Amino acid sequence: MDAAALSAALRRQIRGEVRFDPGSRALYATDGSNYRQVPIGVVLPRDVDDVIATVAMAREFGAPILCRGGGTSLAGQCCNVAVVLDFSKYMAEILEIDPARRIARVQPGVILDHLRAAAERHHLTFGPDPATHSRCTLGGMIGNNSCGVHSLMAGKTDENVDALEILTYDGLRIKVGQTNDEELDRITREDSRCGQIYAGLKSLQNRYGDLVRQRYPNIPRRVSGYNLNQLLPENGFHIARALVGSEGTCVTVLEATCRLVESPPERALLVIAYPDIYECADRMPDIMAHKPIGLEGVDRLLVDYTRRKGLNSEGLALLPQGGGWLLAEFGADTQAECESQARKLMDFLGRSSNPPQMRLFTDKAQVRRVWEVRESALGATSHVPGEPLEWEGWEDSAVAPEKLGSYLRELHTLMAGYGYRSALYGHFGHGCVHMRINFDLQSTVGIANFRKFVEEAADLVVGYGGSLSGEHGDGQSRAELLPKMFGPELVQAFRAFKALWDPQWKMNPGKIVEPYKLDENLRLGADYRPWEPRTHFHFREDHGSLADATLRCVGVGKCRQYDGGVMCPSFRVTREEEHSPRGRAHLLWEMTQGEVIEGGWCDEHVKQSLDLCLACKGCKSDCPVGVDVATYKAEFLSHYYQGRARPRSAYAFGNIDIWARLASNAPGVVNLTTQLPFLRDIAKLVAGIPPQRNIPAFAPQTFREWFRRRPPRNGGPPVLLWPDTFNNYFLPDTARAAVEVLEAGGFQVFLPADNLCCGRPLYDWGMLDRAKKLLLQILDVLDLEIEEKIPVVVLEPSCAAVFRDEVLNLFPHDERAQALSRQTFLLSEFLERKARHFDLPKLKAKALIHGHCHQKSIMKMSDEEAVLRRMGIDFRAPAQGCCGMAGSFGFERDKYETSTAIGELELLPAVRKADPECLIIADGFSCREQIAQCTDRHALHLAEIIQMALSGERPTAYPELQRMRQQEAVVRDSMTRAALGLTGVAAAGALLWAIGRRRTS
Ligand SMILES: Cc1cc2nc3c(=O)[nH]c(=O)nc-3n(C[C@H](O)[C@H](O)[C@H](O)COP(=O)(O)OP(=O)(O)OC[C@H]3O[C@@H](n4cnc5c(N)ncnc54)[C@H](O)[C@@H]3O)c2cc1C
Ligand code: SF4
Repeated sequence: MDAAALSAALRRQIRGEVRFDPGSRALYATDGSNYRQVPIGVVLPRDVDDVIATVAMAREFGAPILCRGGGTSLAGQCCNVAVVLDFSKYMAEILEIDPARRIARVQPGVILDHLRAAAERHHLTFGPDPATHSRCTLGGMIGNNSCGVHSLMAGKTDENVDALEILTYDGLRIKVGQTNDEELDRITREDSRCGQIYAGLKSLQNRYGDLVRQRYPNIPRRVSGYNLNQLLPENGFHIARALVGSEGTCVTVLEATCRLVESPPERALLVIAYPDIYECADRMPDIMAHKPIGLEGVDRLLVDYTRRKGLNSEGLALLPQGGGWLLAEFGADTQAECESQARKLMDFLGRSSNPPQMRLFTDKAQVRRVWEVRESALGATSHVPGEPLEWEGWEDSAVAPEKLGSYLRELHTLMAGYGYRSALYGHFGHGCVHMRINFDLQSTVGIANFRKFVEEAADLVVGYGGSLSGEHGDGQSRAELLPKMFGPELVQAFRAFKALWDPQWKMNPGKIVEPYKLDENLRLGADYRPWEPRTHFHFREDHGSLADATLRCVGVGKCRQYDGGVMCPSFRVTREEEHSPRGRAHLLWEMTQGEVIEGGWCDEHVKQSLDLCLACKGCKSDCPVGVDVATYKAEFLSHYYQGRARPRSAYAFGNIDIWARLASNAPGVVNLTTQLPFLRDIAKLVAGIPPQRNIPAFAPQTFREWFRRRPPRNGGPPVLLWPDTFNNYFLPDTARAAVEVLEAGGFQVFLPADNLCCGRPLYDWGMLDRAKKLLLQILDVLDLEIEEKIPVVVLEPSCAAVFRDEVLNLFPHDERAQALSRQTFLLSEFLERKARHFDLPKLKAKALIHGHCHQKSIMKMSDEEAVLRRMGIDFRAPAQGCCGMAGSFGFERDKYETSTAIGELELLPAVRKADPECLIIADGFSCREQIAQCTDRHALHLAEIIQMALSGERPTAYPELQRMRQQEAVVRDSMTRAALGLTGVAAAGALLWAIGRRRTS
C-alpha cells in the first residue's frame, strides 16, 4: 500500500489534518494496553464530510481504518496498522440536549465530562462513568461498551444509547436504532446495501437467537463478544445497541443519540471496612439489597501501593481500619434521604455477627478524596517502587455479584501457583474485578506463563458463568479466548456479524474476531532490547534507564485533562497528543526502539513534542505513574544540542546568572538599553524575546550588596539565606523582607561566601554540563554549612526544587547532595517546621495565592497555606495549574501565544477579578512576571506579606502599589543617573576630541 500517495490524496480531499510522518505514527502506536502496532498514518477530521472522504480514500488504497477517541483502551483495541481517525480534537461537539426527552446528540469525540457537565444543568447525567471520565470520549465508550461506578444505577453504555449514525467501510451512511417489525420488513425487502445488512442481521437473529439466550451469561457485566443479544426480538432488534462494544471493528460512529438519566443531586458515601477483600465480596447480596448507586471494592495491597507512591494521602487517612474496603454511594433528592439510606445499611451491617468498621461521609471534599483513592487505582498499581512491573491481561473479568467472593478466592489461588500477585479493586456491586498482574512480558518463559495463566483464568471465570471482560472489552487481550466463553458456533456468529458490516475486513482488523494472538504485537516481548544511551540523570527509580523511565506511561491519559488540574498546560491549550506527557513519554520510548523514531538524540519529532513542555513538573507529581517529562526534556536537549548552536534565547536566559552579574556593575546603563523605547526593541530582538514582553529591570543595588553593607547582626541560630539570581539582581526587596522576617523570628541570617547560582534556567535548555558544574561548586562552597546541618532557606521555589529534586537525580551517590536536599527549605517550610516558636504577625486580609508549579509538584503548598492560616489571612488558590511563564518559556518569541493562553486558562482572569484590596501572593519570579505583565496587579512574595504584617501595615486598595512605585522610582533614578553619566562622558569625549582637532589644525 502506497502510504505516501494515500497521504497526498487525503491532503487534497479533506479540510482536517493529515499526518503520516514518523512522529505522528509513533504517537498513536499504542493505547493503554500491552500492545503496539504502528499505524499507517493519522487523520484528524474536522467534520463528517472529512470522515466520509477519508474512509473513501482508504478504501481506494485498501487501507484499514482505526477510529480513536482518548486512546485509553486497555485491551489493545485502539492500536492497529491502519489509518487512525482521531475524533478527539475537532469532532467533539454536543449537538443537542433535550431535557424533556432526556436525550443528548453528540459527535463521537465529545469528552464524557463535558457531556455530564452540560446534562447536569438539567439535573441529568450520562450514567456510565469510567474512571477516565475526564478524557474518554463518547465514541470510545460506545466502542468499548464502557461502564463505571454508576453503571449500577444506569447500566452499561449499550443500555444508554438510543441511536447511532454510522458509516461502513464501503461507504454506507445510515442511522440505526431500535427497529420495529414493520420497519424491519420494509428495509429487508429493499434491494440495497442497507437492506442486505438488515436481512443479514435478521437471519443471524433467527439462526443464533436461542444459542444467544442460552450461552450469554446472565450477569450485569457481560462485555465480551458482540452484543448479539440486542438483536433479539425481546430487545427490540436494537441495531445501535448491537454495535455498541464492537470496538471499531464494524463501523465508524459519526453521531450518537444517548439517553440521559436523572442525576441524584445529593450523595452520601459509606465506607465499609472488613478484615479482607473476600469478606467484602461475600457481602454483595446484602449490600446490593440496600440499593446503593455505586458499590466499589479496594483491597489492602492497593491501599499499600497508593501509600508507598505518596498518592491520595488525605483520602487514605479517611478510610476506617481494615484490610478490604467497600465504597457504597447513596443518592437522593435530599441529603437527609441519602444519609437515611446509608444509615439503614449501617444498622443492618452493625447487627451482623462480624460487624465491619464503617464511616459515613457527607462532606463533598472528603467524599471526593475517598473516591480519588479508587479512581487512581490503575495508576497507583503501576510502577510501584520496589515492585515488578504490572500489566493488563486479566484486568476486568466479571461474575455474578453473589459469586464474587468464591471467584476471588480461586483466582488468587491460581495466581499464587504462578507466583503472581496484584492489587485488586473494582465494581464489586456488579461483580467486576480489576487487577494488573506482574506478568513477565520480557522473556520466552514469562510470556508462555502469561498465556497459560490467562487461559486457565478464562476457564475459571467461564466455570463461574462469568465474562472474560466485564468492562474494558476484548481487543487483543481476550479475543483469542472468546471460544471458551461462547463456544465455536457463537464465535462463527460474531464472524458473520462483522462480515455483514465490513465484508472487506478492513475495520480494526485482528480485534474481537479472527484475532491476533494475545501474545503477539507486545510492546515488550522476548526480544525487547531498547537503546540504553548514557545519560546525565541517573533515573534511580528506573534502574538508571531512560527506556524504563519512559516505559512508565501505561496510557492512563490523566494528562489529557481538558479543564482544571495541574497537568498538562500545553495539552490544555493545544489539545494535541504530542503535547501531552503521555505523547511525549511514548515518543521518547519509541526513540529507544529506533524503529519509527530513528533519529535518536537528534530526532526532530521528539524535539518538537518536547518544545512546548513548560518543565512545570506537573506530571511528576500528578501523573499516577510519575512520568517526569521535565527531566526527560532536559536530558534530551542536552544531547540534541551537542555540537550545534542553541537558539539565542537559550544563551540569554540559560546563562542569566552570568549576564545579571555583569549587569550589576552598571545596572542603570543596562536598564537604559532594556527599558527605553527603541533600545529595548533591539535588546528583545537580540535576546529572542517577543515584542509584547517587558524585560525585567535590574535593581540598582543587588541584595548581596545591600546585605554586605548593613551592620552585622549577631545572635540566634544560623540560617543560610539563598540569594537566588532573581531575587538578588531583580527583586532584592523580597530577599530583604525575608531577612527581616527571619531576624524577627530570632535567627541569624548569613549568605553563602561566594556568588553562587543553582543553575535552574539551564535545565530548560538542556545545558546540563554547566548545571552539574554549578551544583558541584555549590556542594564545595557550602561544604561546612552542609556538614553543620545549617538550614538553607530558599525564596525562589524553582531554585529550591533544584536542591530537592535535580541534585538528587544528578548526584545520587553524593552524601552532600542528599544532605543539601534535606536541609533546603522554602520560607514557609522553614517557618512551619523549624520556627514554630515564632509567633507570626496577624494580617486581616483576603488573598489570592498562586503556587509556583515546582512548589506544587515537589514541595507542595501545605506549609505555605499553614503560614497564611496562622496569620489569619483568608486566602483562596484559583489556579491549580501553571501561570504560563514557567521560567523563560513565556519570554521565548515562539512561545508567547502558548504562554499567555495558559495564563488565561484560570490564573490571569482570577487576578483581574480579585478585589482591589485582595493581596496577590506568588513566590515564583516567573509567576510574578506573568501576573505583572498581563494584568494591572503585582504579586508579592510570602516574605513581603509577613514583612507587611510585621510593620503593622493594613492592606488598602492595591496593597502592592506603594512598593512597586518605590521599586520603579529607584530604577528610574538609576537610569537617570546613568543617562547623565553617559551624557557627561560623551560631552567630555566630544570636548577632548574638539580640543585635539584644534591642536592638530
Ligand atoms: C486508568 C484507566 C481507568 C479506566 N477505567 C475504566 C472504567 O472505570 N470503566 C470502563 O468502562 N473503562 C475504563 N477504562 C477503559 C477506557 O478508558 C474506556 O473504555 C473509555 O471509555 C475509552 O474511551 P476512549 O475515548 O479513550 O476510547 P478509545 O480507546 O479511543 O477507543 C475505544 C474503542 O472505541 C473505538 N472507537 C472510538 N471512536 C469510535 C468511533 N467514532 N466509531 C467507532 N469506533 C470508535 C476504538 O476503535 C476503540 O476500539 C479505563 C482505562 C484506563 C486507562
Ligand atoms: S512538565 Fe508540565 S508542561 Fe511539561 S509535560 Fe509535564 S505537565 Fe506538561
